Amino acid sequence: MTRGRIIIRNGTVVTMDPFLGDFPRADVLIDGDVIVAIGPDLGPMDAEEIDADGKLVIPGFIDTHRHTWQSFLRGIAADWTLGQYMTGLHLGLSGMFDPDDTYAGNFLGAVEALDSGITTLVDWSHNVDTPQHADAAIQGLTDSGLRAVFAHGGGARMYQVPSDVPHDQDVRRIREEHFASEDQLVTLAMALRGPQYSTLDVTESDLRLARELGLSVTLHVGDGEWGRSRPVTRMKQRGLLGPDMTYVHCNTVKDDELVDIARSGGSASIAPDIEMQMGHGWPATGRLLDAGVRPGLSIDTCVSNGGHMFGTMRATLATQRAIDNDVPGASDLAAVSLTSRDVLSFATLDGARTCHLDHKVGSLTPGKQADIVIVDATDLGLTPMNNPVGQLVYAAHPGQVETVLVAGLVVKADGKLLGSVSESARRLGTQARDRVFARAAATSALVDAATGGGWMPSPLVTEVAG
Ligand SMILES: [Zn+2]
Repeated sequence: MTRGRIIIRNGTVVTMDPFLGDFPRADVLIDGDVIVAIGPDLGPMDAEEIDADGKLVIPGFIDTHRHTWQSFLRGIAADWTLGQYMTGLHLGLSGMFDPDDTYAGNFLGAVEALDSGITTLVDWSHNVDTPQHADAAIQGLTDSGLRAVFAHGGGARMYQVPSDVPHDQDVRRIREEHFASEDQLVTLAMALRGPQYSTLDVTESDLRLARELGLSVTLHVGDGEWGRSRPVTRMKQRGLLGPDMTYVHCNTVKDDELVDIARSGGSASIAPDIEMQMGHGWPATGRLLDAGVRPGLSIDTCVSNGGHMFGTMRATLATQRAIDNDVPGASDLAAVSLTSRDVLSFATLDGARTCHLDHKVGSLTPGKQADIVIVDATDLGLTPMNNPVGQLVYAAHPGQVETVLVAGLVVKADGKLLGSVSESARRLGTQARDRVFARAAATSALVDAATGGGWMPSPLVTEVAG
C-alpha cells in the first residue's frame, strides 16, 4: 500500500495533544506522511476511508529502551535475577550471535512491537561487536517498517565491568553510511555504558564522542546495587550532564540525582514491568515526577516480560499507586497522585520527548507524522466504553490493536500486519534461536534446559564502583 490521503472516520480520538484534548467522535485526515486535520465531521473527502466507529484512535506507542536483539530468547530469563541476566545473557549467549542472528532478533522484536501498536522503538543495541552485526541490526529495524532510533551500544567486549575500553569508533562509519539524513524513519543515537559499567574517564570520552557527532545519548543508571554508586553525581562533578542524555531505569539513584537530571534538561526512561521482577528496585516514577521529569516507558527486554506497552503501562500505574498507599493515613487520600492519563502520556508524548522525537510524533497533532493506532473498542473487554483512557490503560491488550499506521502508511489492518512480515519474523526468529542454542550447547551444558526455563546461570558479582 502506498501513502495517499486517508481519513479515519468517527473514532473516539484521544490526541494526547494538550491543546486538542479528546474527541468523543471525530475524523482524522492524513495526507502523505502527516496528519493535516482532526475534528468532528470533516465532511466529504477524496480520500481512502477507514471506519473507526466504536473504535479508539490514539497516537502510536513509544518504547524508549529495548534490547531488541534478544527477542528470540523470549522467556528464558523469566525466573532470573538481574545478576543472572548479566552473566547468562549479556556476557553469555550474546557471544553466540552471528550477524544473521542479530538481524533476526531485531526484525522479530520490531515486528512484534509494531503488531502491538508500538510505532517508535529505541533499539538499545549493545551486542554489535562487529560492523556486520551493526549493519544487520539496522537492517532488521528498517525492514520491519517501524520508526526506530538505533542506539549504538557496541558489543560484549565493552562490557567487562568496569570497562576501560572506549566506545566503538565504528559509530562514525555507521553515521556516515546509514544516517546521512536526519529525516529518516530510522535515526541514530549512542547507547553508552556510563559510570556504572565503565570508568568515569571512559564515560567522559564516550560523551565527548557523542557530542562531537551530534548524537543523543542513552545510558543505564540506578539499576539495582550498581545504581547506588551515585552515577549521576559523579558525571555532574565532571560537568557532563546535559539535555542530550536519557537516563534508563533510575530506581536506586538518589533524589538529589533526579533533581540534577531535571535541572540539566535530561530525560528518563523507566521499565517498571522488568524492574520489579528482575530486581532493579522500586520504579522511580513518583520520585521522577517530584523532581520535575516526566518519564518515557520502556519494555527493556523480552527475555522475561512481554513486548507490548499495555503490560508496562499497568505495571507503572499499579506500582506507583501501591507506593503512594503504603503510608500511614493513605486511606484518607483525596485523590490518586498518578492517573491513567499520566501513564498514557508516558507511553506516547512523554516517550517522544524522552527520545527527542516529540516534534515528529507522540500525539495526534496536525503537522506531526501520522503514527496512529486504532484499538477495537467493540471488543467485549472494552464494551461499553465509559472511560476511554482508563479502559485503554487497564483493560486493553495487543489483540485489540486493529490498525496501525507509521508515517501515513497502513502497516496493520483488520488485526493483521500487512504483507508477510509476521511469517518472516516467526521463521527467522525460530531459526536464529536454534542456531544460537546449538552454538551454546556445543561450548557448555547450559542450554538444554533453556527452552523450558530451567537454565539458571550463576549471577554476576562485581564491586560496586564508589
Ligand atoms: Zn536496558
